[in-house]
Amino acid sequence: MEERMNNFLNLQITNENVNKVDKEFKEFMKELYASIKTLDVSERKAFGQIVNDFKSKMEERINNVKAQNTNVDKSCENVDLTLSKPLLKYGAMHPLIRIYKRFEKYYINNGFNIVSGPEIELDKYNCEMLNMPEHHPARGMQDTFYLEFPNKILRSHTSAVQIRYMLKHKPPVKIISPGIVYRVDDLDPQHTPMFFQLEGLVIGENITFADLKGTIMNCVKNVFGENISARFIPTYYPYTEPSAGIDITCPVCGGKKCRTCKNSGWIRVGGCGMVHPNVLKNVGYGDNVQGFAFGYGMSKFPQIEYKLPELRILHDNNIKVFKKLH
Ligand SMILES: [Zn+2]
Repeated sequence: MEERMNNFLNLQITNENVNKVDKEFKEFMKELYASIKTLDVSERKAFGQIVNDFKSKMEERINNVKAQNTNVDKSCENVDLTLSKPLLKYGAMHPLIRIYKRFEKYYINNGFNIVSGPEIELDKYNCEMLNMPEHHPARGMQDTFYLEFPNKILRSHTSAVQIRYMLKHKPPVKIISPGIVYRVDDLDPQHTPMFFQLEGLVIGENITFADLKGTIMNCVKNVFGENISARFIPTYYPYTEPSAGIDITCPVCGGKKCRTCKNSGWIRVGGCGMVHPNVLKNVGYGDNVQGFAFGYGMSKFPQIEYKLPELRILHDNNIKVFKKLH
């Protein structure tokens, strides 16, 4: 027995043989315990002591090798140098921006510059210089949010950028200005208190309403396809004269009348007109120049294109929805 115990103690225990040694060791322990019972009572204590020493030594050696084994296994599991990194989860481009990019491409290709302005705007630029002096009834058409700072408001249209630009640049002017604007509107399926507008301004000598019509018409055909047309409905804006609402052929039914266009075949997408002489005078431009301005309510377009039941979906920033709209 003692010789076999020594054999076990001298045995080289490796990763490869540890399970086999462990099994044999346990078998041997059973034999040892059994043999203790066969000894005289006087010898049992001393032999029992030897067996216990042997048992703890062997267990320690076997457990050490097993522990190393588990460590090696774990680290192997976690490091695989051949694996590539998990793919990053990208967001999705906002449906509004995706459509805006189509407009942007058209206008850039036609020589327009892109200009931006602040969303917190001076009353002077948002209203006063756009031919809407204080107490002018037209201010009611675009009720906005007033800030605690004197004379500062959240801009109700991107037209304020026209003023800022014209004050700094002499004609000719050919710009578009995209951005968020604010109006006091209750939240309902068709209205949100903030929305995305795209503004355009062209000033120069001999610019006429025909140029305005041509620019709008070409733009909608370019962005939505040759079958889409635009029409101009007389309306009133304080900063343009004459002024017109822009309707485009309903892209959903192609003008055949449907629910989206409320059975008219047309959808109102913005407004335009020849810049009012008072506005040109306010920024110091002379009588020799004139021009036109237009503005699209951009939220309309994704709503039509993706048949969105509510405008609010565009501002909820829900990536799951935007990915579906791709
Ligand atoms: Zn329709």
